[in-house]
Amino acid sequence: MATILDGKIVAETIQAGLVQEIASCKARTGRVPGLDVIIVGSDPASQAYVKSKEKLAQKLGLRSSLIELPASATDSELLATITRLNDDPQTDAILVQLPLPAGLDTWRALDAIAPGKDVDCFNPVSQGMILLNRSAIFPCTPAGILRILDHYSLDIAGLNAAVIGRSFIVGKPMSLMLSNRHATVTLCHSKARDLERVLRQADIIVAAIGKPGFVTPAMVKPGAILIDVGINHVADGALIESFHYEPWRTSFAKKGFALVGDIHPGAFNASSYYTPVPGGVGALTPTMLMVNTLELFKQRLHA
Ligand code: NAD
Repeated sequence: MATILDGKIVAETIQAGLVQEIASCKARTGRVPGLDVIIVGSDPASQAYVKSKEKLAQKLGLRSSLIELPASATDSELLATITRLNDDPQTDAILVQLPLPAGLDTWRALDAIAPGKDVDCFNPVSQGMILLNRSAIFPCTPAGILRILDHYSLDIAGLNAAVIGRSFIVGKPMSLMLSNRHATVTLCHSKARDLERVLRQADIIVAAIGKPGFVTPAMVKPGAILIDVGINHVADGALIESFHYEPWRTSFAKKGFALVGDIHPGAFNASSYYTPVPGGVGALTPTMLMVNTLELFKQRLHA
């Protein structure tokens, strides 16, 4: 019988610790860690994400602000905002919400964030520190995955790990972080040949592709640990029905859509542990943003 890796429980445990640590930081230094989020344009999904991050920051006792630039903002205006926050002593953590509207240079913006305030770790200096295993913080989604493994005391040293998807946000840093934990890692992508064979040998699979139910039961070795990063908005009732998975059916019946993972739920039974969607990896990501904000604060203030 497979065990569910419950991201909500892990997030609640971490949040309880954060509330105490933030209060203790305030007592020691006279102020609380500050997260400043820059959003350009009015993409509804991005707006919803940043508002939920702000709400969580407030719940935990962090200072947070949202800086909204119009979709017509130029690279120079965005860079000027980042520079101002780099120089602001009250700002411990800077996040530029992605994706930026077409026409803006994402790398120029990410390059401009001071590494000591780079809460997402997307700046090349931060990515280099991850490569060298010298970073105190890690990109939120893969960092949340390691927290889930830790919470359930899953030691991955020596295991074969397959990561599918090589984005700089999830897949690439995840592969390095698993390697830093002594797993033998294969980083798979859309050009990978014989993906099924690679996955069948994996003791742990991290799927970060963005394709509903992509990892089928036939691709999974019995007893593997399944980590599903995918969040796919699916409104196709027939597709949802084909997964025979009650949580997605219920969501579709209520809302007309379901958030579907990259792993086919038919694979869960043969696994040893799996993260559900929703309520698995995604439940950790915003919390890890707050963990990173606190860590950057402590580094800057030597607190
Ligand atoms: P992305 O969209 O930037 O890249 C997708 C990756 O998947 C690419 O590297 C590509 O090579 C790979 N890929 C695509 N088709 C493939 C195939 N047929 N075989 C093998 N590899 C294939 O990826 P992303 O931004 O990392 O997002 C991936 C998924 O994770 C999305 O569903 C996204 O919504 C979700 N996501 C979830 C969280 C969370 O907190 N749970 C955070 C970030 C992203």
